[in-house]
Amino acid sequence: AGEVLKKPEWIRVRAGSPTTRFYEIKQILREHKLHTVCEEASCPNIGECFGHGTATFMIMGDKCTRRCPFCDVGHGRPDPLDADEPANLAKTIAALKLKYVVITSVDRDDLRDGGAGHFVDCIRQVREQSPATRIEILTPDFRGRMDRALDILKAAPPDVMNHNLETVPRLYKEARPGSDYQFSLNLLKRFKEAVPDVPTKSGLMVGLGETDEEILDVMRDLRAHGVDMLTIGQYLAPSGHHLPVRRYVHPDTFKMFETEAQKMGFSHAAVGAMVRSSYHADKQAAEAGVA
Ligand code: SF4
Ligand code: SF4
Repeated sequence: AGEVLKKPEWIRVRAGSPTTRFYEIKQILREHKLHTVCEEASCPNIGECFGHGTATFMIMGDKCTRRCPFCDVGHGRPDPLDADEPANLAKTIAALKLKYVVITSVDRDDLRDGGAGHFVDCIRQVREQSPATRIEILTPDFRGRMDRALDILKAAPPDVMNHNLETVPRLYKEARPGSDYQFSLNLLKRFKEAVPDVPTKSGLMVGLGETDEEILDVMRDLRAHGVDMLTIGQYLAPSGHHLPVRRYVHPDTFKMFETEAQKMGFSHAAVGAMVRSSYHADKQAAEAGVA
């Protein structure tokens, strides 16, 4: 619907040449019947990430209880939790010899702990089988279940706690129905209070109709809630049925966001058109001081 903006030249995706490691990872994933966001979302960075030993796994099924119109994940009544998933995930990560993994999930508003217990089961099992692997979790907002979720998470915390704000508060109603800007900020703040030595991280997309000033305001809010790491990338509509791209942010503007992020005191900011929440997650974490 509406006019479709032409992609500027800096959006052109570099395919790169897949390495042997890339094919090896793909094959092991098939054998273990596990799916990565990298493949499902046809992420343009897949060659690079798999090549570096980084991948993003989606747990707790592929049906989300929310319906964000920018998102390509399926919706509907979620499947029951798979009790074998944490062990299977851990086995796969060990077989892949991954150095850095991002574990994420759909929103599970149907579960009493929002899925926090399943996250922690996955963290524990991965740590047991791959003690050297760094684990970042990219969580839902645990809306209505924050106390319970935080209690569970602090018992087996990840190496990085990531929760994306995705967009500016003015656009929440349109882009994040069922979510709440302040609630998400509070989750990040309260996690930091509960586990002060684990860096917190959040991500934003640009191109949904926000202004530069609104992005800067969100960045200030994130710092005011103790958030250490930031990602900002260009929104690309997954299809004509999703929210349209309302602007392509110029590389100079991304540079400006990056400079401002440094001034505001983020320990790491990954900012650029093709940046995704988990892009160079290993490097981001290393630069932010996660050993
Ligand atoms: Fe996977 Fe994230 Fe890398 Fe994309 S940026 S390939 S989703 S780890
Ligand atoms: Fe997609 Fe997350 Fe929104 Fe669910 S809550 S629709 S997974 S962005």
